[in-house]
Amino acid sequence: MRLGHRPERDKRITTHVGLVARAFGAEGMLLCGRDAHVEESLNDAARRWGGAFRLTPNASWKGEIVRWKESGGQVVHLTMYGSNLPDVIDEIRKSEDILIVVGAEKVPAEVYQLADWNVAVGNQPHSEVAALAVFLDRLFQGEELGREFEGGLKIVPSSRGKEVIYPEFSSKDEEGGDEKSEYGNEAADDGLDE
Ligand code: SAM
Repeated sequence: MRLGHRPERDKRITTHVGLVARAFGAEGMLLCGRDAHVEESLNDAARRWGGAFRLTPNASWKGEIVRWKESGGQVVHLTMYGSNLPDVIDEIRKSEDILIVVGAEKVPAEVYQLADWNVAVGNQPHSEVAALAVFLDRLFQGEELGREFEGGLKIVPSSRGKEVIYPEFSSKDEEGGDEKSEYGNEAADDGLDE
C-alpha cells in the first residue's frame, strides 16, 4: 500500500514503489489516490513483462487495512521509527497474508496503531523504495530474485550486452552497446519514460 501519494511530486517514486513491489515478489499494489501517469506506467510494465501483478488505484487506506485484518491478514508498516527489521523478520515471515504500508509524507498516527508491526529497515531516514526492496528481500530470503514471470518479455541473464526473448514469437533480440532506456533496450522498452 502506497500512502500519501502527491501527484505533483511523487510520480516517479510511486512508480518505483510499484516496480519494486512487482519485481521483488508482491502480488499487487494498493495506491491511495489516483495518478494516470503512475497507473499507465505500472499497468504497462505488468503487461509487457508478464506475471499477475495488479494495481488497485484510489484505495482507502483505513478501509483496506481494516478489511485486510478482518480477513485474517497482518499489516507491516515500514517506518524508520519501528522495530528494526532483523529483530522481527522471522516472526513476520510466519504470517501468510501481509499488507506492507509505505508512506510519502507524514503518515497518520492511526497507521502506527493499526499495524501489527511497525518495522524499520535500520533506524535512519532513507526511502520507501529502498525500505520496500530490503524488506521483501529479507521476507523472501532472496528467492524472489529467481522468480519467473509468465507471459511477458524475458531477459536472458548475460555478463555483457542484452538478450531479450519475446515469448509470443520465440525469437531473440540480441544487442550490446548503449542503454536506450532505463528499463531495457529500445526493442524491449516498456514505455516507462520516467
Ligand atoms: N517523516 C516520514 C515518516 O514519518 O516516516 C518519513 C518519510 S520517508 C521520505 C517516506 C517513507 O519511506 C516512510 O513513510 C517509510 O515508509 C519509508 N522509510 C523511510 N526510511 C525508512 C526506514 N529507515 N525504515 C523503514 N521505512 C522507511
